Amino acid sequence: MTGPLLQVRGLVKHFPVRGSLVGSSAVVHALDGIDLEIGPGEQVAIVGESGSGKSTLARCILGLTRPTDGEILFHGQEVTHLRGRARREFRRRVQPVFQDPDASLDPRWPIARTIREQLDAFGIGARTERDARVSALLDRVGLPGRFADRRPHELSGGQRQRVGIAAALAVDPELIVADEPVSALDVSVQAQILNLLAELQRDLGMAMVLITHNLAVVEHICDRAVVLYLGQLAESGPIKGLFGAPRHPYTQALMAAIPYPDPTRRL
Ligand code: ADP
Ligand code: MG
Repeated sequence: MTGPLLQVRGLVKHFPVRGSLVGSSAVVHALDGIDLEIGPGEQVAIVGESGSGKSTLARCILGLTRPTDGEILFHGQEVTHLRGRARREFRRRVQPVFQDPDASLDPRWPIARTIREQLDAFGIGARTERDARVSALLDRVGLPGRFADRRPHELSGGQRQRVGIAAALAVDPELIVADEPVSALDVSVQAQILNLLAELQRDLGMAMVLITHNLAVVEHICDRAVVLYLGQLAESGPIKGLFGAPRHPYTQALMAAIPYPDPTRRL
C-alpha cells in the first residue's frame, strides 16, 4: 500500500456551550483546523495539556464523533460520512485503546468472551478457530491462559488494559488510536503496558496514534510527535528534532515540565 494511511485535513470540532454567560451561541473550539498525516506503520504521539483537544481528535479519527468541518481520509477515502458496511469495515481497521479499559469490557463476561465477541462481530477467522485465536491473543498480550474465564473485576487495572489491547488487536487493525492508555494505571505498571504496545507495534506493524500528556514516555514508542495547544497544532516533527529544539513556546513549556529521573538526561 502506498501513500498515507490517514490524512486529517482542516479538521474542526466545535461543541455548543449550554448555560454560557456569553450567550446561547457560544461554542468551545475543541479542534480548530488540524492537518495531520499518518503513514502505514507509523507511530505518532499526540501531546498537549488537558483540554487541548487530544481526545476530540482521537474520537474524530475513530469515527466516534463527527467533525464540524474538515476531512478525514483513510487510504485516500473520506470516512466521516461512511454508512453501513463501509463504516463497519472502517471501524474494524481503526481500533481504539481507551484510558479506562472498562469502557471496552463487559463486567459480566469472562474476558475470553469479550475478545471472542470482537471476532464474531466482525466475522474474523473461521468460527471453529476463534477460540484458539482468543487464546493466542491472550498469550500475545501476556495474560496466562487460566485468565480466560475470569471476569474483569478479578483482574488488576493493568491486566484489564491488556484485555482491552487484545480486543483491539483481535480484528487485525491497521491503525490503533490509544488515548492515554496508561494514565489510569499504577505508575509501576505503566511502563509494562507501554512496552507491550511498542512491542506489538514492532511485531505486527500497524500504525499507532499514542495520546499522552507525558512527553517522557513518547520517545520510547514514537517516531513523530504532534503538539496540540488550544485545539490547534502548535508544532509537529520527528521526536528528536522536536524535543531537542522545541520552537513553539508551548512545547518549550511542556518540555520544561517533564520530571526527569536524571537531571543531566535530555531527550
Ligand atoms: P484533551 O483530551 O486534550 O484533554 P478534549 O478533546 O477532551 O481535550 O477537550 C477539548 C475541549 O473540548 C475542552 O475544552 C473540552 O471541555 C471540550 N469538550 C470535549 N468534549 C466535549 C463535549 N462532548 N461537549 C462539550 N465540550 C467538550
Ligand atoms: Mg483526553
